[in-house]
Amino acid sequence: MQKKISLKLLPSEATHETLIKNHIAQSIGEKESAVSGFNIIKRSIDARSKQPWINLTLQAFIHEPYQAREKQQFAFLDVEKSNHKVIIVGAGPAGLFAALKLLESGIKPVILERGKDVKSRRRDLAILNKQGIVNPESNYCFGEGGAGTYSDGKLYTRSSKRGDINRILNLFVHFGADDSILFESHPHIGTNKLPHIITAITKKITDCSGEIHFEKKVIDLIIKKSKIVGVKTNTGEFIESDAVILATGHSARDIFQLVQSKKILLAFKPFALGVRVEHPQPLIDIAQYHCSNRGAFLPPASYSLVEQVDGKGVFSFCMCPGGIIAPAATAPGEVVVNGWSPSKRNNPYANSGIVVSIEEKDVQAYKKSGPLAGIFFQQEVEQKAFQSGGGNLAAPAQRLVDFTENLISASLPGCSYLPGIHSTALKEVLPEFIHKRLQTAFKEYGKKMPARYGGKSFFTNDAVVVATESRTSSPVRIPRNEETLQHPQIKDLYPCGEGSGYAGGIVSAAMDGEKVASMVAKFLKNG
Ligand SMILES: Cc1cc2nc3c(=O)[nH]c(=O)nc-3n(C[C@H](O)[C@H](O)[C@H](O)COP(=O)(O)OP(=O)(O)OC[C@H]3O[C@@H](n4cnc5c(N)ncnc54)[C@H](O)[C@@H]3O)c2cc1C
Repeated sequence: MQKKISLKLLPSEATHETLIKNHIAQSIGEKESAVSGFNIIKRSIDARSKQPWINLTLQAFIHEPYQAREKQQFAFLDVEKSNHKVIIVGAGPAGLFAALKLLESGIKPVILERGKDVKSRRRDLAILNKQGIVNPESNYCFGEGGAGTYSDGKLYTRSSKRGDINRILNLFVHFGADDSILFESHPHIGTNKLPHIITAITKKITDCSGEIHFEKKVIDLIIKKSKIVGVKTNTGEFIESDAVILATGHSARDIFQLVQSKKILLAFKPFALGVRVEHPQPLIDIAQYHCSNRGAFLPPASYSLVEQVDGKGVFSFCMCPGGIIAPAATAPGEVVVNGWSPSKRNNPYANSGIVVSIEEKDVQAYKKSGPLAGIFFQQEVEQKAFQSGGGNLAAPAQRLVDFTENLISASLPGCSYLPGIHSTALKEVLPEFIHKRLQTAFKEYGKKMPARYGGKSFFTNDAVVVATESRTSSPVRIPRNEETLQHPQIKDLYPCGEGSGYAGGIVSAAMDGEKVASMVAKFLKNG
């Protein structure tokens, strides 16, 4: 028989197959030999008490042979002879998963991507990190796999209503991700592994006669009688198609400007902006696991913090245990930070975005108006950060307690941000309503993560605050009809993914890509 069993085990027990079998046998009053094996359905850490526990939900095989979990199968069709061609602008998670869905429907995807392939892109990232030079077409946001490729690869999402999360995770496994992402409560792939998965996806697309063209930037949308008929690229080509999926991400500011210049409807969207905070990882481990040493069986600890300050949410975003702060600028003259971690999360620091929610009235107070007001607001802060960072992408920074007391830090701690950090009064960089709320929130976070077991609280000068975390989500929405998913004014134009305001993160962008592609397929097949 097969039985679903829940166990609460010590971290040292939870990685040990024989011990787990033992516990299964005990829990059902059988001998250990009766348990032939088990598959993990869910694994999570409960670190609320002094002793951290691992909660496991298992499918146990008792008095019957063990069967490993079956891999989900997918049928991607060869689309060489397809009667339909759909242009996808952008090869991020939204664009790639849209393409896979079109292949399943027998429709030819043609992906146009402004950036380079993964391998060439890696060279531009090295120049970005070592020399502080930004290539506006090839960086942490632009290129094969979009912002998803050199991202952290945390696959946790709350957007369960937007689509089938499990299907997306199974697709990642199909293309090479470890199957632990199917049962971990906070699945994570890691920056070192993502590029291989992305290239496996793009290979499948081209193997099935779909097309991907790198260094092809879309510079115009060709619209005739309120219907999109194709696009124009930077190489002067006009490419026709039955439909266009616009999946250009939150950093394609020129696309938003193009849409606005063509008088196509778009709107301001609330977003968030703030800083990245970095602590030594052991400090976070002690605070979260309530012990002086997390030992060999617990992963580097993470945190999730939220505080309401003067009517606005101030929250942690994209926390990267054992991670690196990355330069995520997409144009020269701006400093933007984000974070990633390798699959083992074995770097000495823990970083996280800490950001403040922003509404339209907040940016209007800074004399920014219209649908692109959020972009102008972001840009102003990013440029100030560049100017006060000391050039070459060095980021302005302050020790955390100094930040709350408006003291310029006499020295800065070690930091993972490779272009370097520069001691600055961040008050001069951040808008006042953000700066003040961050000051209050950091003190409150110190109470939520107090000093324990000889460690230090979140609120310590061992931590450094680095500006600016500005690309948390798109500050613009390109609207779409809820039923057709097409733009309300332009037939066959499908705004998609994070850039259009319908996703925030890898999984939700992938789900939106699938959703839009399914709709495109439905319309094309029904004529
Ligand atoms: C460093 C970093 C770490 C991150 N970590 C995580 C994480 O751990 N978990 C998570 O869920 N999310 C993470 N994210 C966010 C995540 O990567 C994005 O939410 C996701 O990639 C959005 O997918 P998308 O397809 O909508 O857009 P994008 O991934 O932004 O892709 C858009 C693509 O469109 C291309 N493009 C833009 N304009 C044009 C044009 N005119 N013509 C042709 N192509 C164009 C771009 O080059 C880009 O490749 C991280 C992001 C960064 C930068």
